[in-house]
Amino acid sequence: MGRRSLRNCKLCAWECGVDRVEGELGVCRMDARPLIASKQLHPAPPASYTVFMTGCNYRCLNCQNWDIAHYPDNPEGRTWGLQDPRELAVEAVNMIETLEGRRIGADRIFFSGGEPTVHLPFVEEVVREFRRVTDVWKVNFDTNGFPTRDSMRRIVELADSITFDFKAFSDGVHRALTGAPVEPVLRNLEFLIPSHLNKIWEVRVLLIPEVHDEAEIRAMCEFLADLDETVPVCFLAFRPNFVLERHPGAPLDLLERAVEIAREVGLMNASWSGLPGLPGEVPPSVRRRAEGLVDVYGHRGAALAAGYAAEVGCSKHPRDCLSCPRSGSCPVKRYVPARRT
Ligand code: SF4
Ligand code: SF4
Repeated sequence: MGRRSLRNCKLCAWECGVDRVEGELGVCRMDARPLIASKQLHPAPPASYTVFMTGCNYRCLNCQNWDIAHYPDNPEGRTWGLQDPRELAVEAVNMIETLEGRRIGADRIFFSGGEPTVHLPFVEEVVREFRRVTDVWKVNFDTNGFPTRDSMRRIVELADSITFDFKAFSDGVHRALTGAPVEPVLRNLEFLIPSHLNKIWEVRVLLIPEVHDEAEIRAMCEFLADLDETVPVCFLAFRPNFVLERHPGAPLDLLERAVEIAREVGLMNASWSGLPGLPGEVPPSVRRRAEGLVDVYGHRGAALAAGYAAEVGCSKHPRDCLSCPRSGSCPVKRYVPARRT
């Protein structure tokens, strides 16, 4: 497949069908260049040499890496540039084997972003070279869960471990937060968990207060438990960020309650992490907009998230970034937050 898959791009579930080699742009707004945003040794488990790829196929309101996910649309978007796959593979092995790499316990190259699926042919080339250089160190692929079936199979093929962000179970909440439907994500979990559980490092669930209510958390947990009760699940504390920069952080009791719910439905490996309790307050103007969106999303938490999107200019509700007429000039992608966390 390789770079040919960029000619009629269907790498992710948007299946835009654009010719990225000719410079056509899909929802991710990335041409064929596999731009790297940054690279560094990273202690967060699994400790690794992490390669952050530029660009993303989602437009998450809470994006922590908005400056690399929304390059080149965002005025503060940034990228590092291009690198030969062989050179990157050798560099990753050398970095893992430095004193610092050994000290933090790095044992793999870790592809993150943005969303690395957008640059899957490049990731495959790097991994091919990496496997030639080492048979000791491993490969992790970090995904938002939106690859096509075919891309998901390619990811399973190349990765020793997968970290999977599961953002919501309800379509309304998922669309409000990301701009994308949830069905492909659920389908990928249904494929991965029963057949490739050994590759799942962790399913990560970021909890945003008022958006993820108890019913939403329970629905996510039940979905996962029905697939396999042993799947590792980690709830992450939302930090006020990007379009949600004024929203309150996840309180400790929400994180503890989520772990309780997970255990109630049978999940055996549930935990939480992050920094709870960061201050924030929902602006009254967002609450007013949210009131008008409850019927559209059928969920109060989704409507609240969508209220923030509407406040910065997103006018398509339910959000759907493929069919949105403003997809190429999206106000969410262009948003520059005042607060940095
Ligand atoms: S959004 Fe997905 S399908 Fe569309 S061009 Fe980007 S990677 Fe390809
Ligand atoms: S304006 Fe359109 S493209 Fe931008 S986030 Fe909203 S739905 Fe998606």
